[in-house]
Amino acid sequence: MAEGLTVNGVSKAFAATPVLQEVSFAAQGGEFVTLLGPSGCGKTTLLRIFGGFELADAGSVRLGQNDLLALPANRRPVNTVFQNYALFPHLSVQDNIAFGLRSRRLAEPDVTRRVAGGLEMLRLGELARRMPHQLSGGQRQRVALARALVNEPELLLLDEPMSALDAQLRAEVQLELKRLQRRLGTTFLLVTHDQDEAMLVSDRILVMNRGRIEQGGAPAEVFERPRTRFVADFLGDANLLPGTREGAAVRTALGLLRPGTVPGWTTGTLAIRPEQIGVELVKPQENAVAATISEVHYLGTRWDVYCAPGNVRITLSPSEVEDIGGVSPGKSVWLDLPANDLLVLDD
Ligand code: ATP
Repeated sequence: MAEGLTVNGVSKAFAATPVLQEVSFAAQGGEFVTLLGPSGCGKTTLLRIFGGFELADAGSVRLGQNDLLALPANRRPVNTVFQNYALFPHLSVQDNIAFGLRSRRLAEPDVTRRVAGGLEMLRLGELARRMPHQLSGGQRQRVALARALVNEPELLLLDEPMSALDAQLRAEVQLELKRLQRRLGTTFLLVTHDQDEAMLVSDRILVMNRGRIEQGGAPAEVFERPRTRFVADFLGDANLLPGTREGAAVRTALGLLRPGTVPGWTTGTLAIRPEQIGVELVKPQENAVAATISEVHYLGTRWDVYCAPGNVRITLSPSEVEDIGGVSPGKSVWLDLPANDLLVLDD
């Protein structure tokens, strides 16, 4: 069974600028955890601290019973796959994969056996003698993964390993990575700013903003139940509706709306994702808003529609558009904001 990771109060500043502020979380052994956040939020720095490429100013990190930060980088049962793969250009695929094993002075028969396993695991057998420059981006990415995995790390750190791939290949590699992780049962910690990637591969997502973890949970939990404006906006592209509470309802730019739960605040923000808003020709019963369509964008599998008041964004399926006899700017419609999808945010 793979070891779990326990991170407690990790902080880091560069010069006087705080980059990580008391980051704490735990990953269970065999869990696939993703740190998701925009560029500059500190996720790479956190990964580099785990890998031993950067020192923390404060905090502790344990892998199982081991104090990870007390071990030198090369003694940590941890491997990292970097964004640029960092393959050795003068070594063949198989020698790249063998490199870490040979530098740990594993007996050559063991090296051969593990490299063969790595080649097979990542379907690289035919490419074993190729040089890195003779490989596609996706193949190089698989070599980098094989090279890390043959070391049989307790924890695999992945720093945006798919970002150099084009969209189609990236989707394939993401699925492959998820299947591989489930099969091996190794603890994976991925860093990405791509929310679709995070949703697809992860058991749990930790959403990072400005050096802190804002919210963590299963993909469906953070997507469907964001707690802050940042998470609602970053993950679901939600409509944010600032307002003032009036009893159990909230006065917003769209009028008086009744959310699923009563807000604990007097002024605050409601959120609703574009696909949760219904568009009707007949006035809905609850949270009905009279609106005029202002912009329409056809995107093949869906339509993006903007409405006044509030410049609300709504996504509609082709059949929903058909049900209301088409969408065009200037058309008057009723918006239906189901109370259960209208979320009360904490901030
Ligand atoms: P990206 O997705 O762009 O890599 P990130 O979330 O991984 O972003 P980090 O690379 O961890 O972010 O960087 C966090 C902040 O720390 C950034 O503002 C960055 O400019 C700063 N930073 C990172 N490394 C250093 C360094 N060695 N010296 C000074 N500042 C640094």
